[in-house]
Amino acid sequence: MNTDVVIVGAGPAGIFTALELRRQGSRQKIIMVEKGQPVEKRHCPKSKTGRCVNCKPYCHITTGFSGAGAFSDGKLSLSCEVGGDLPDLIGAGLAQETIEYTDQIYLEFGADEHVEGAENTDAVKAIRKRAIQAGLKLVDCPIRHLGTEKAQQIYGAIEHHLLENDIEILFGWECRNLILDGETCLGVSIARGTETEEIRASHTVIATGRRGADWLERICQEHSIAHQPGTVDIGVRVEVRNEVMENVNNVLYESKLIGYPLPFKNKVRTFCQNPGGFVSQENYDDDLAVVNGHSYKELKSNNTNLAILCSHNFSHPFNQPIAYAQKVGELTNMLGDGHILVQRFGDILDGKRTWQNELSRSNLVPTLPDAVAGDITAAMPYRSMVNIIHFMQAVDHVVPGFASIETLLYSPELKFYSNRVKMDDHFHTNVHGLHCLGDSSGWTRGLMMASVMGVLMGRYLVQDELS
Ligand SMILES: Cc1cc2nc3c(=O)[nH]c(=O)nc-3n(C[C@H](O)[C@H](O)[C@H](O)COP(=O)(O)OP(=O)(O)OC[C@H]3O[C@@H](n4cnc5c(N)ncnc54)[C@H](O)[C@@H]3O)c2cc1C
Repeated sequence: MNTDVVIVGAGPAGIFTALELRRQGSRQKIIMVEKGQPVEKRHCPKSKTGRCVNCKPYCHITTGFSGAGAFSDGKLSLSCEVGGDLPDLIGAGLAQETIEYTDQIYLEFGADEHVEGAENTDAVKAIRKRAIQAGLKLVDCPIRHLGTEKAQQIYGAIEHHLLENDIEILFGWECRNLILDGETCLGVSIARGTETEEIRASHTVIATGRRGADWLERICQEHSIAHQPGTVDIGVRVEVRNEVMENVNNVLYESKLIGYPLPFKNKVRTFCQNPGGFVSQENYDDDLAVVNGHSYKELKSNNTNLAILCSHNFSHPFNQPIAYAQKVGELTNMLGDGHILVQRFGDILDGKRTWQNELSRSNLVPTLPDAVAGDITAAMPYRSMVNIIHFMQAVDHVVPGFASIETLLYSPELKFYSNRVKMDDHFHTNVHGLHCLGDSSGWTRGLMMASVMGVLMGRYLVQDELS
């Protein structure tokens, strides 16, 4: 097969590359390769079975058209201070401008007009004042909340639009490798079961998401694509009653707090806050069970959940952050007999595990019923655990009750952003014709920033077509 552009991965980064190419009038032949299914065929059996059945060959939550986005909470962060380090590569001005442009596209495809956390009211000022007193930074980040069900509809409409505009999408095909001639990329080799194909292209765009980060790292090593070890985040998913978070939920929807707690002064931050939301489990291909959270537009729980994450970097003699985080995850999974572990904050401070029957003594009912009560501190690295405890105690000044005895901590919450691919500001790697986008490139960490990177890629490919 021959084409002008091949895009591997139909997550937001890949989708918006194709979308922007067409919006800018490009008639180039575009093929997308996606190992999962179209958005309308993605179904997580957990809604019927009540528990994760560890789907094979891949998890429907993270794989298929719209990538990790379709089943996600769909919170679009409208500030370039959130969602990864792309502004360091392209400049904060362009990043913010492109966020506003990309947001309009989401609106055109049916996103809710309402933006949460856009006003700087007296209530926001009061929260900021308490954050300052606690030594935390409150990041301003307006959020457009798509909601899990609505996100699927929006991405479904985009899928339909792409197909109508002559974008060929090969579902169920997995990219196995790049085809290289010296320092030029000529396309990709793909497979579906025992069938194999080659796609020859002038431009190859790799946008394989977090799930594809390991694979891309191997490809970078094999083909000497310049890259550097990035960061991994290790943390917990915290769950409290809505009453505790009421003020922050109403005023900000999402409180993005950053701190550098003693004694290590590492960066610790809140992430992905879900008022009235549900804690969820996702399974990686290697059977690693990790915790996450989401919220629905209509269906609400009595609880709010959010992640607390600590960043980890390694240099010498060990420089494999993904492997490190995986080991932490595996150890935690082992202690939970393959399930997500949950522990009360008070028990952590008391140095004891949580027992299943103790959970029912609280006001707080876990929204992840198959989580297993135990001792997350037996698997969490000391530095991360101390960071989390001290950070939670600081957040308690901003949100009284946050660090209460019954607050639940689920583990492992792991974010793999490793392997940052070295590129110029037009996303050229050191291999001619090869571009790497989105979460797998190590430059983004969210729906909006991955979409922005796709939009810019589309524009740069059009510029190349016209020159
Ligand atoms: C449960 C959950 C909730 C989330 N909630 C939010 C949120 O509310 N707000 C937010 O901003 N972010 C959220 N995120 C993160 C967000 O979804 C990602 O940052 C974003 O989707 C990254 O986009 P991407 O295009 O880089 O990669 P992805 O969306 O991961 O897409 C990559 C695609 O590539 C495909 N692929 C991978 N390898 C191959 C291969 N070898 N061959 C072919 N196809 C391949 C995958 O199947 C996938 O469809 C959430 C993530 C999860 C898992």
